Amino acid sequence: PTQLLKGQKALVTGASSGIGKATAIGLGRAGADVVVNYVAGREAAEQVVEEISGFGVRAAAYEADVSQEDQVVAMTRRMVEEFGTVDILVANAGLQRDAPFTTMTTAQWQKVLDVNLTGQFLCAREATKEFLRRGVVPEVSRAAGKIICMSSVHQLIPWAGHVNYAASKGGVQMMMETLAQELAPRRIRVNAIAPGAIRTPINRSAWDTPDAEEDLLRLIPYGRVGDPEDIAHAAVGLASDLMDYVVGTTLYVDGGMTLFPGFATGG
Ligand code: NAD
Repeated sequence: PTQLLKGQKALVTGASSGIGKATAIGLGRAGADVVVNYVAGREAAEQVVEEISGFGVRAAAYEADVSQEDQVVAMTRRMVEEFGTVDILVANAGLQRDAPFTTMTTAQWQKVLDVNLTGQFLCAREATKEFLRRGVVPEVSRAAGKIICMSSVHQLIPWAGHVNYAASKGGVQMMMETLAQELAPRRIRVNAIAPGAIRTPINRSAWDTPDAEEDLLRLIPYGRVGDPEDIAHAAVGLASDLMDYVVGTTLYVDGGMTLFPGFATGG
């Protein structure tokens, strides 16, 4: 089914590259109108808009820093004005500021928490206000709204040298589950996707040389690095009514990375 999300309005944060870009395009291909949020680089965002418009749906690029409350409020308000409402939020924007623990600065810690965790909190809160205002529109979806938090396998797998990032994703998991519990009675579905290793700019050094890729593949039972489209497909499914009974779940899309591959030989 190619029009699973026909007529729905989706907001994807951090959608000018990587997973967010593929997800915005995937939602558009599935029939949704899409707001492509970006924080810098208007041109890349406009290219995504152009590609989505090719599916005969509406798309627009909105600049906003998801860690800034006033900008998130303004972005959501603008989407309601220009698109009518919000049905789907993919809270995807995220970044890394890696450092060994004792040299990690407070600025590195704070930046990652601000974008990866507070950013998702702000976007989810503003989208939820709109979901509650509008309620369920049965012709559009069985839910009043769907939120998909982009987490990571590092909500589960500790990651040395990345304590800020791992802490932010651990926070995303409990935030997502708490929101799911709080909002399910209002017919709002909150779920998360936990990608494994996906080929995007955020982790280029992990896959862009044959040696690096070989090391990485040791961690992936399925034997290939993931593509952004692998995550986009999961997001389209989770956002659709096919998954209407999926509430508060993390969907790991990781080629088996969370299956403790070190134990594959039985030890
Ligand atoms: P990416 O760097 O291509 O995408 C992140 C996007 O977020 C960028 O477009 C960036 O501009 C945007 N962004 C950063 N700060 C922002 C802000 N303050 N406001 C708005 N946008 C902002 O990398 P990606 O791999 O596509 O990452 C997308 C999400 O997937 C992130 O949350 C990341 O943690 C998660 N993730 C990625 C992988 C992977 O292997 N690539 C694995 C697990 C989780």
